[in-house]
Amino acid sequence: MVFIDSILSKLAKTGKKQIVLQAPEGLMRTAVKFVPDLVSAGYTVTLSGDPCYGACDLVQDLDADTVLVHLGHAPVVQRENVIYELYQQDFNPHEILLALPYLTQTCIGLVTTVQHVHMLPRIQEVLATKGYETIVGSPTPRTPYAGQVLGCSFGGARTGATEMIYIGTGVFHALGVHLATGSRVIALDPYMKTCEEVTVRAFLTKRFSLIERAKAADQYGIIVSSKSGQERMDLAEHLLTLHPHTTLLRMKEVAADQLLNIGLPCYVNTACPRLAYDDQPRFHKPVLSPEEFEIVCGVRTWDEYAIDEIF
Ligand code: SF4
Repeated sequence: MVFIDSILSKLAKTGKKQIVLQAPEGLMRTAVKFVPDLVSAGYTVTLSGDPCYGACDLVQDLDADTVLVHLGHAPVVQRENVIYELYQQDFNPHEILLALPYLTQTCIGLVTTVQHVHMLPRIQEVLATKGYETIVGSPTPRTPYAGQVLGCSFGGARTGATEMIYIGTGVFHALGVHLATGSRVIALDPYMKTCEEVTVRAFLTKRFSLIERAKAADQYGIIVSSKSGQERMDLAEHLLTLHPHTTLLRMKEVAADQLLNIGLPCYVNTACPRLAYDDQPRFHKPVLSPEEFEIVCGVRTWDEYAIDEIF
């Protein structure tokens, strides 16, 4: 839950009266409901209506008298005058028992996304009653909560454990944890009450095929994001040196229609890493990760395949 009282208490400490409220799509209706409460408390409120996928995409260019209230995400970049209000989602910690039949070790790493990190101590307690030792990774600059992973950052999963449980919905984070750490990963969805061991064969087969298609291209668009927490110009500049036929593209939203308009035969994505992986079915041309482009250019081997992360 996001608590208006918590937001009001944090706002009071800033001494500022102007707010821009920003939320991801799934929390936009919650944000709208907060506006009357904030106005009644004496604040001038503007709700950001632009799409927002993470704290990598904070509203820019606010004046010094304005506070940005960002709902649902933890900070990924340091910026002043921002209040982060998490959206914590509870579940029954005993759902972790669903994972036990899949485990082969007694020392298990635990990872999850930010909305569930507060559940990890209770999950550790449940596993301890069954004789399991658990390891929760340390915070990193991009994932400030212990045990937290993002779709672009798996530092919190580098626990040294050879077997891990990812708790959350979807399989992308679990797949990323497996590729980033080499650990065996069990993905547990505590809401659907489903559990599975993550395998990467299908993912890698698709990416291999994409790399082979990309090798036939005679021009590559290197995409660099203008979003504060996604911009990797140094990486883009490195990629530009790898091939003589590259074009630097600065984009805010990496949309399929826009890439179609630009008309290049292949793109390399240095913006949010998930775009290249999750959104490929929407793109008309191959969109590679930086590591995949390195394979195309012969400076990385297929055996050195790595998932793209922002550190
Ligand atoms: S870069 Fe992508 S995965 Fe990372 S925080 Fe932003 S939206 Fe999420």
